[in-house]
Amino acid sequence: MSSHFHDECAVFGIWGDAEAARMTYLGLYAQQHRGQESSGIVTLRSTSSHLVHKGLGLVGEVFSEDVLRSLEGAAAIGHNRYSTTGENLIANAQPLTATLQSGPIAIAHNGNIVNAASLRESLIANGAIFQGTNDTEVVLHLLSRNSSADLIASLKETSRILEGAYSFVILSHNRLVAMRDPYGFRPLVLGRRGHAAVLASETCAFDLIGAEYVREIEPGEIFWVDEAGEHSERLPKKVEKTAHCVFEHVYFARPDSLVFGRSVYEARKAMGRELAKESPTDADIVIPVPDSGVPAALGYSTESGIPFELGIIRNHYIGRTFIQPSQSIRSFGVKIKLNPQAHILSGKRVIVMDDSLVRGTTSQKVIQLIRQAGAREIHFRLACPPTIGSCFYGVDTPKRSHLIAATKTIEEIRTYIGADSLAYLSHEGLMRAVGANHAGGFCAACFTGRYPTDLFGLDRE
Ligand code: AMP
Repeated sequence: MSSHFHDECAVFGIWGDAEAARMTYLGLYAQQHRGQESSGIVTLRSTSSHLVHKGLGLVGEVFSEDVLRSLEGAAAIGHNRYSTTGENLIANAQPLTATLQSGPIAIAHNGNIVNAASLRESLIANGAIFQGTNDTEVVLHLLSRNSSADLIASLKETSRILEGAYSFVILSHNRLVAMRDPYGFRPLVLGRRGHAAVLASETCAFDLIGAEYVREIEPGEIFWVDEAGEHSERLPKKVEKTAHCVFEHVYFARPDSLVFGRSVYEARKAMGRELAKESPTDADIVIPVPDSGVPAALGYSTESGIPFELGIIRNHYIGRTFIQPSQSIRSFGVKIKLNPQAHILSGKRVIVMDDSLVRGTTSQKVIQLIRQAGAREIHFRLACPPTIGSCFYGVDTPKRSHLIAATKTIEEIRTYIGADSLAYLSHEGLMRAVGANHAGGFCAACFTGRYPTDLFGLDRE
């Protein structure tokens, strides 16, 4: 079994809304960036039965008008699953459903349980049968083995055994539950739409459905809503410091979301400002690699006084496949997505801002395009430190050996991507930008190699 699960995902939940399935559909639609492999919705039709629809593909492809109409009920949860590699299996599509001693349950998970592989082995040794390869199924088996007939008690008990990242949204026959690991790796927020309680990975989902943001589900909190109202308790396991994923702010979350209580847009702009202070550069224009580099480039421009330009225009309507031309066209692959503007770039000294550099292949191609468009100098700037470690908490990073900064010096990377200069944001600058002082501790293991939990033998290389 692969030691890498690919569980960047979006979760959503709603309790007490006559249009629960439709709201969930929209909540997933707004969070499509968190997962494109599969999508699913489970509704609670009566107190004893769940209705389920899941499929591979984008939210808009998986759900039709007829399907949404058939998903009756005033409570629902939903999930978008991410996977760039790994098995694209319908068995891994969430929410997962099962019937426990406490009744039917549907579960949607964002994050990655780092001890899932060892838990799974011992469950299999004890007779458990697994259908997919994802870590969430492990949680269902652990719950089913718990002797308590009360779901909240078994969730709390199970949380003692789980290590790593989990933001769960769970629908039983009589409750909507949110449970977030004590580190608070992945985001999870509570909102309100009229009288309905709403849960989502990101606040951009609330904006679309006209829900108001209430607060974060706290790290180490179990929250639930039922007929009697809203309840909140602490999980038994305590940790010294939170470990919010800093990469949510760098790349993953939408800029119009509040994550860990801070605007992602403002955090990204602040990264650009910090970088302009740390690595000032003489240049004519600052351009972003769209879309991920846009807020940071704005911040860099504001701080440095160097004009911001859209030197590369992105095509937003790229499908999964396109027909290649029979004759070769220079840099065709990247040009279909990014088109450099020669009338802006020609003869200029250009600062190019991107959020992060992983393998370096995208940057190399982007720089080639900018040179072909006539730029005189190219100064590549990154809104985060060098990525030197894989993520085991839910962000799909390649193996360490494929991370260019894990094996090459900054000068070697500069030569590889073909820039005239290269600078990364420092760890301290990044922490200032994300407001680490106010928001608590962050996990920056992808930049520091320091993992806040045991990794249970997961392959770091
Ligand atoms: P590359 O250096 O060619 O591997 O690609 C780096 C680009 O991919 C960055 O500029 C990001 O915009 C984007 N990126 C970074 N991390 C991820 C991720 N986990 N999943 C998808 N895209 C990513």
